[in-house]
Amino acid sequence: MDLLQRDQQYIMNTYKRLPIVIKKAKGNYLIDETNTRYLDFFAGIAVNSLGHSHKAIQKAMKVQMKQFLHLSNYFATESVVSLAKQLTHLSGLDQVFFTNSGTEATEAAMKLARKATRSIQSDQLEFVALHESFHGRTLGALSLTGQMKYQEPFRPLIPLVKHIERNNIAQLRNAISEKTSAIFLEVIQGESGVQPLSEPFLQAVMELQAHYHFLIVVDEIQTGLYRTGIPFAFQRTPLKPDIITVAKSLGGGLPIGAVIATGEVASAFKPGDHGSTFGGNPFVAALGSALLDEMAKPEFQRQLKNNSAQLKAGLLELQNQYPHVIQEIRGEGFMLGLECGQKATLIQKAALKYHLLLNVTNQTVIRLLPPLTLTSKELQAFFVAFKESIDEVVLL
Ligand code: PLP
Repeated sequence: MDLLQRDQQYIMNTYKRLPIVIKKAKGNYLIDETNTRYLDFFAGIAVNSLGHSHKAIQKAMKVQMKQFLHLSNYFATESVVSLAKQLTHLSGLDQVFFTNSGTEATEAAMKLARKATRSIQSDQLEFVALHESFHGRTLGALSLTGQMKYQEPFRPLIPLVKHIERNNIAQLRNAISEKTSAIFLEVIQGESGVQPLSEPFLQAVMELQAHYHFLIVVDEIQTGLYRTGIPFAFQRTPLKPDIITVAKSLGGGLPIGAVIATGEVASAFKPGDHGSTFGGNPFVAALGSALLDEMAKPEFQRQLKNNSAQLKAGLLELQNQYPHVIQEIRGEGFMLGLECGQKATLIQKAALKYHLLLNVTNQTVIRLLPPLTLTSKELQAFFVAFKESIDEVVLL
């Protein structure tokens, strides 16, 4: 039986697999059983930001492997403290709690927000989140994730969560009150198709916060760590978050998540309030630290700035050529969504033939999440393959 058949037999049926089997990954390419090399515009859904088998990650692995892999959170460890310090410097916030995934970071943020605001006012317990948001799939995080298709089969979810439309200031004003504990926002909603929040909406969040004193939690799980060209997407908005959540690329390919908060909010957590056996694992943290060191290099930043600008410019040109195919381009940096209607999945399928791996989200959006280390030569290869794929679909 081949791997895809065995996968169907032994793995629960929650994922749609692509019809190729990857044997190896190197740089920004995945290589299949027949040695075909695919340009990876998937990057493990925004995880492999430095591509595959990056030297800095491999070096950190070797060093940390020799010291220890795991001790438990009874011990302070150098790599974990270093990573926390880097995250506070990058974000301007003060203290970190480490988790193993994005959804656990959301859970921890919910608990932290609830405890922090309830200790000031006992009934300040409500959460506000957006329709079409995505904050994770555990029951708490799912209660925030404003998508019927994910929530419906698992109701009842946790109470006291209000959902409002993205960028709808009237609904925002209606939802917020002295009972609001926190609002959860993705500055650019990823899973629902790379949908940015508007500046007036975010300004209104800040104005309401000055009056009602709820917490602002920004989910940077997909947008964070330079995905949109800067450390955190909130940094180009009026938002001043009390808490941010990160995960995805933070472990250089291994699982880790983090909640980063202001000192005032973080101080609500006391020993025993929250914990995780593996959260803040020294091995993964060492890779995270190496990743952030690499991303801080001027050469990395320069290449990211140039190549993401080149990607956007090339896509705008393509949109001019195919306005009926690429109806809209949204997003920033290397997190771009192309609204392609029913053609999105057809283009994704065609791209496989041209050895390009694309991700489609919300059925109609091609979501480009390439490794941040994409070179200009690889960018050219992308445009050749992408144009061929569109041409094939247009001729259908
Ligand atoms: N929040 C956002 C914005 C995400 O994009 C994701 C995952 O795609 C999550 C939360 C959940 O992260 P995880 O899959 O690591 O639980």
